[in-house]
Amino acid sequence: MSEKKTTGAALTPRPAPRLTSQTAGYWKAAREGWLLLGDCAACGKLSHPPQTVCPFCWTAGLGNRKASGKATLNSFTVVHQSGVPALRERLPYIVAYVELEEGICLLSNLVNCPPAEARIGMALRVLFEAITDESAAVLFEPA
Ligand SMILES: [Zn+2]
Repeated sequence: MSEKKTTGAALTPRPAPRLTSQTAGYWKAAREGWLLLGDCAACGKLSHPPQTVCPFCWTAGLGNRKASGKATLNSFTVVHQSGVPALRERLPYIVAYVELEEGICLLSNLVNCPPAEARIGMALRVLFEAITDESAAVLFEPA
């Protein structure tokens, strides 16, 4: 990924993730503009989010790989109501199920895209929205 994009500077920060010894590295990488995948040396499979144990072969000590940030929109829904103040500012917003170029699917938000323009199969790219100094939301926008 050659360009690290960010968004959301004028909005109330999204709810912060609870950092643990297992998740802090993932969120810090997102804050620095990288989407990390778990990379298993034993079975060769990638996973998301990174974990300490491979979800496929149960090998401990997974490595990390930086995702390319390229993805495809597999499915989505448009949210029109939210009880969370920071999310209320973003209404309507798109909850997107995206497939990364690496074959991993994950749930995220599609931003910088009016809901009427979202199309299944559209090319996306990752971007990041700072939450704290130690975390950022992993989001996608049209490529
Ligand atoms: Zn494995």
